Amino acid sequence: MTVTAPTALRRDRLVRALDAANMPSLVAVLYQLTGDRTWLQDPYRPTRSRGMDDNDGGGFAPEVADIIRAAALDAITSGRPPALPSPTGDDLVEMISAAVGESVPPEFAEMVAEDMGFTHAPAPTQTPCDFSVVVIGAGVSGMLAAIKLQEAGIEHIVLEKNSDVGGGWFENTYPGAGVDTPSHLYSYSFAPRSWSTHFGKRDEVWQYLSDVAAEHDLRDRIRFDTEVDSAVYQPDTQSWTVTTMDGDTLTADIVITATGQLNRPKVPNIPGLDAFDGPIFHTAEWPDDLDLQGKRVAIVGTGASAMQVLPAIAETVGHATVFQRSPQWVASSDVYFEPIDDDVSYLMEAVPLYRLWYRVRLAWNFNDRVHPSLQVDPDWENPSRSINAINDAHRRVFTRYVEKELDGRPDLIEKSLPDYPPFGKRMLLDNGWYAALKRDNVTLVTEGVASIGPDSVVGSGGHVAEVDVVILATGFETHKLLSPIDIRGRSGVSIKDFWGPEDAHAHLGITVPDFPNLFLTCGPGTVLGHGGSYITIAECQVRYIVDLLRTMANNNIGSVECKPEVEQDYVRRHDDAHSRMIWTHQGMDNWYRNDAGRVVSTLPWRIVDYWNMTRHADLDDFDVESARR
Ligand code: NAP
Repeated sequence: MTVTAPTALRRDRLVRALDAANMPSLVAVLYQLTGDRTWLQDPYRPTRSRGMDDNDGGGFAPEVADIIRAAALDAITSGRPPALPSPTGDDLVEMISAAVGESVPPEFAEMVAEDMGFTHAPAPTQTPCDFSVVVIGAGVSGMLAAIKLQEAGIEHIVLEKNSDVGGGWFENTYPGAGVDTPSHLYSYSFAPRSWSTHFGKRDEVWQYLSDVAAEHDLRDRIRFDTEVDSAVYQPDTQSWTVTTMDGDTLTADIVITATGQLNRPKVPNIPGLDAFDGPIFHTAEWPDDLDLQGKRVAIVGTGASAMQVLPAIAETVGHATVFQRSPQWVASSDVYFEPIDDDVSYLMEAVPLYRLWYRVRLAWNFNDRVHPSLQVDPDWENPSRSINAINDAHRRVFTRYVEKELDGRPDLIEKSLPDYPPFGKRMLLDNGWYAALKRDNVTLVTEGVASIGPDSVVGSGGHVAEVDVVILATGFETHKLLSPIDIRGRSGVSIKDFWGPEDAHAHLGITVPDFPNLFLTCGPGTVLGHGGSYITIAECQVRYIVDLLRTMANNNIGSVECKPEVEQDYVRRHDDAHSRMIWTHQGMDNWYRNDAGRVVSTLPWRIVDYWNMTRHADLDDFDVESARR
């Protein structure tokens, strides 16, 4: 483990940078460098973060913070290797617990150790893999698959419908688009970046992905502007025939889908939609040349996309009318709009351990910490407002936030407070939403849309907004997984029919009976609803798939097909876990569950649980055939 980056440290620069350090991260670095247990004890134990607060000060008195900085300066510049180069197990858990100011369960140790690079994933197989792989999609997951296949020496090609990499980050160019997971977390574990802001905007996120693609020469292995029409398994040859929309045909031993869940715009079937005279479009299809200056605009929907669009266009438009079918719970982050200052970036570059510890703390605060509070307490007396005591406390915090932001506007407060429990729909981060609602040129209409005329949008309660432009922030076809690709397995049945309408399921969200040698990323039940970075999940899935391919190569296996009983058992456990969680709770709709009430999209477990489930592929879960080649 390196203490410092290869570039020589400049002491004066470091002194300045340390002034801007996140203190809980710094004290963890200090302990790792020195091994001196003093730094794990009071008065050097930071306080716990509240909510999504970065807790930069760590709750330290100024004189204590000075002592930590001075000791860190000595330790970093001493030239000595870390006293604890690769902490794992109980030692690591003790360090994480100290850094986050609360007790972290022991099962987190292995996952964190691997993310921090203190332990390593299994070395590549000695047996050469002579598989050919088609990866469908070059977004976050498809790029990752290509990188890891390359590392494993497995031949592959990526088919991408767009003209460049990035998937959703390539497509979504709407004003205000960006992450609402901190960028230092929304990055591949092996590809850190000096982000300019805590929450990267779309262009920077896309640039990051583009740079990663360049660094790994991915574009050489991606066929752009190539949309897949069908993939059909050929049992005789243990291979897939993949046909593109252009009619080209490829043969591959393995297909990995990386098409995401949020890439097919959902355009509601509103009467009159086609008759609107002006621009009318989905947020993911924002027109390049759109000029909103002084225009009267309707925004349909109040999800994560609308949350970003409205504040970004409110100053430009003449008037914006927001059609809100249901209000959203919204959290806030003190650093949402904050740039990451140069000193902090310098510290991250010059002291890689600091970057690692900063990321670990973010991961704890944004990932699994909230999961226990999303379990329904069957004895809870107010199930319509919350699902348990902690969830009720969240409700009070978020309610106070709305009341503060909309102070002086009781009309807007009443319209904006949801009547369902927090986290029932995907939580949003305030992007300036409430400030925008208060503007004179913004009207919040608490009605769905009933119809659209040539120059108007009519609400279900009769509100008529005369508008020049209609923005459909109406979400994605999240339950039509892999659609519109026609995927047919061993028996010739399409995966759509195998699943039934909008009811996708797969063992680990990755592998499906009757579909040998097909592996899904971002499959059913693997989106994160409780928080965290999807990239972590993608890394679990790709690690599992590559592990399985190595096992196949090492054992001369030509096909693996998930056993039906294994998948059924997994789905039973998945549904059972969901039945105790918030997203099956009544009182609200969300895009996680289908019309029958089954949660199709989100992971019911903690990330650490999924990490463990996908750590190694178990051949016993599969019907296996020897290679016939
Ligand atoms: P969404 O969360 O599915 O929201 C769709 C909105 O449209 C909802 O408010 C929905 O109302 C409304 N709606 C749908 N049909 C309607 C109709 N006929 N009339 C009136 N309203 C209608 O979609 P999204 O905002 O695009 O977000 C989808 C997901 O993409 C997010 O949850 C997130 O995972 C991801 N995303 C992330 C970011 C980010 O990182 N910041 C940004 C954008 C998107 P109801 O709630 O009543 O159904």
